[in-house]
Amino acid sequence: MEFRTGNLQLMKDWNLSLLANLIRRNPRISRAELTAITSLSPTTVSSLVAELIEDGLVRETGVGESTAGRKPILLEFIPEGRIALGISINHDGIRVAPVNLLGKPLYVYKTNGNLANERSIISQVDRGIEACIDFLKKHNLFKHLFGFGIGVLGLVEGTKSRYLLGDNWHTLDLAPLLTKYKGQLKFEIENDINAMALGETWFGQGKEDNHVLYVYTGYGLGIGLIIDGNLYRGAFGNAGELGHVSISQGDHGDLKCSCGLTGCLGPIADGAHLMLKIKEAIENNVSTSMSLDNLNFESFLEAAVNKDPLCEKLLDELIFNLSRAIISTINLLDPGLVILGGFFSNPNHLASERLIGLIKNNSIASYRDEFKVFTSNFGDDSGVIGAATLILKNVFDFQITNRYID
Ligand SMILES: [Zn+2]
Repeated sequence: MEFRTGNLQLMKDWNLSLLANLIRRNPRISRAELTAITSLSPTTVSSLVAELIEDGLVRETGVGESTAGRKPILLEFIPEGRIALGISINHDGIRVAPVNLLGKPLYVYKTNGNLANERSIISQVDRGIEACIDFLKKHNLFKHLFGFGIGVLGLVEGTKSRYLLGDNWHTLDLAPLLTKYKGQLKFEIENDINAMALGETWFGQGKEDNHVLYVYTGYGLGIGLIIDGNLYRGAFGNAGELGHVSISQGDHGDLKCSCGLTGCLGPIADGAHLMLKIKEAIENNVSTSMSLDNLNFESFLEAAVNKDPLCEKLLDELIFNLSRAIISTINLLDPGLVILGGFFSNPNHLASERLIGLIKNNSIASYRDEFKVFTSNFGDDSGVIGAATLILKNVFDFQITNRYID
């Protein structure tokens, strides 16, 4: 009979996740190097590595150089050793993707969601899950599926999210999806932008930083905060509502926000409100190269760069006000790294350059050489990568050997 105290098991899990993380971050590392870095005994390292290999997470990959004696066998992570489905539901649409242990989507199912219709969202997500499962089965990867992570807009509580569309609150309950796959796979649900911030710290630009401010500007707007290495949600899970930070004066002082106040950033800076404003201008015969057929942010940016007067003015306002809100947040929270995601994630675009310049030059942290403002490398996949991270991070956190958890 085997006697094990909880503490010993905890210690073993901790050592397993330590080695798993070291091998993930240092591809082609040997057992001897792991022993040297961790100060664990060679026997312990060997037995834990054997467990990781047995579990399909790690493999041997050739031999390394040696100054004397036997050449060491090198180890690496198997990227497809575990896979999570990342599900993203927000103003930018619905996306579902199987994502591997390197944070790389293997396939992406995309559809435009109608956020006002709860039943249609659930059935579209379900179709996306089925499409991803088919993909995994076809590529003989289904057995590696570990769980589903869902990043959804709004205020998340349990399986439900509440969000504002126009002046109306909507409630989306994801319970039907959970019921369908219950008992087979692990589930996690989180606010979409929080999940994206987490994705950046595991697989993206924020891997080396403990204090990260992630700013997402898409058709929705918000921030994800990593403080001391942990996601900060606030007392009621509402942290990061950048769209409701009070900012505007003058022209927009009386613009009423869906939250009931005037002067919120969202109505000036999020993509959905911006498109409404351009639509209204077109209907009022304001001169612009935009038309009702190309109402999207990419066309808007192109028009602004090509000196369309309406779009140039709107972009100036957007960048100015957004930068003010971001600078205020930086001055309040003192992050070492700011990551811009969504519309401003192309570092070479004039608009991103202007926004980054304003933030870098006007934040209190600007005097520090270490203060960084980066753009995200995830492009349109930030939602699915973030959502999948909710699950994938568990592979490296303790319960590493449990494939299915209720
Ligand atoms: Zn508001």
